[in-house]
Amino acid sequence: MSTFLDTYNSFDWHQVSDSIKQKNDDDVKKALSNSKRNLEDFKALISPAATPFLEAMAKESQRLTQKRFGKTIQLYIPLYLSNECKNICTYCGLSITNRIPRHTLNESQIIKEAEAIKKQGFDHILLVTGESPTSVDVSYLENSIKLIKPYFSKISIEVQPLEQKEYERLIKVGLYAVYVYQETYHKTNYKKYHLAGQKSDFIKRLLTPERLGKANINTIGIGALYGLEDWRTESFFVALHLQYLRKKYWKTKYSISFPRIRPHTGNFNPKVLMTDKELAQVIFAYRLFDEDVELSLSTRESESFRDNIMKLGITSMSAGSKTNPGGYAIDEDSLEQFKTSDERTPFEIANMIKRNHYEPVWKDWDKCMIL
Ligand code: SF4
Repeated sequence: MSTFLDTYNSFDWHQVSDSIKQKNDDDVKKALSNSKRNLEDFKALISPAATPFLEAMAKESQRLTQKRFGKTIQLYIPLYLSNECKNICTYCGLSITNRIPRHTLNESQIIKEAEAIKKQGFDHILLVTGESPTSVDVSYLENSIKLIKPYFSKISIEVQPLEQKEYERLIKVGLYAVYVYQETYHKTNYKKYHLAGQKSDFIKRLLTPERLGKANINTIGIGALYGLEDWRTESFFVALHLQYLRKKYWKTKYSISFPRIRPHTGNFNPKVLMTDKELAQVIFAYRLFDEDVELSLSTRESESFRDNIMKLGITSMSAGSKTNPGGYAIDEDSLEQFKTSDERTPFEIANMIKRNHYEPVWKDWDKCMIL
């Protein structure tokens, strides 16, 4: 049976890069006028030729988003359960080579953190860990979900890739969504950023969303880490991945994030700088390509960027994020995975959304609807 690896292997990174660069004004105009856009249209929309058309792209992105999602922004918050990690990722402060205090929350600490987060009004929580299967294995994750389930309706995870049966086990106790980013779709250079540990296995990571589709998860989140390789080519492969998954696992919902590298412990300098304008272009292009996909923007981005882009395609935002285990109630000063940029409180973010005549959504469905 074919997998996404077959689809991925049928494209060459350099040929894709060149063909994006060769798109012209007419290609962009055609992509804008089509009611359904294909991958060639997507290439045109992320190409340098699309720069003069950003305003038209923004308007169409806003129109499609309001048509499908209304004037709403879903709010979520990450809870870091552990900063232990056995991998060497050259761009990350939690890499095993960085000598920092490591900590995995125990049961009572998880509950204290959940209670502190709940008081802020959230109903959607994202559990995050490094990749240390010896301290954070599927049993730990299963128990964590069980512990916090009484507090939250929607529980998602961003942890190490698991096997299909392990995902099925977590879905049974209430897991709603899994976010697993490829970081870079450049297979050769992937090895340069992921020097050791299980994350160095490019193919296993690439096929993780496929295992999630087979496990019948509600939502799969994919994306690339911008700053490693050419952002246009990365975005094409994310769109390719999305299109493949949608066709094969059509009952599943999808989400895309677009993290840009932020300062952290260690001294990694991004190879590629992506400007705010370029990030906006990618967001509009994803929306024009796929009207139903959730587009999520984290507190990595600045206040001003988040405020401006909020009405133009985004459907989900984090707020009040701490990227260290225990950051909400236990140990507010422990080391963060990366520095957040938008440091406003959830209350301030919700007010900003309301001032823009949008509705902040803390909870979009009830527990009874999934039982
Ligand atoms: S990116 Fe993830 S896997 Fe890599 S070092 Fe950081 S926490 Fe570990």
